[in-house]
Amino acid sequence: MFSVHCPDHGCEVLLSERRIRGLVATPAGMRLDWECWCGHRGSLLTGRSTVPATAAMVGQHRPAV
Ligand SMILES: [Zn+2]
Repeated sequence: MFSVHCPDHGCEVLLSERRIRGLVATPAGMRLDWECWCGHRGSLLTGRSTVPATAAMVGQHRPAV
């Protein structure tokens, strides 16, 4: 689980790994693309070169929903 700020919600929202839509390596670190429960999409810069194994696995396995 991780929390992001969703503009549509107007507050911090707790998302599960299933809401991760992608992981992109950038010079500043890993960028995590997420999709909120409400459908809003955003990205989160982790600032680290490594991410939890579970997140990486979800990034490769895209849910049908
Ligand atoms: Zn939202």
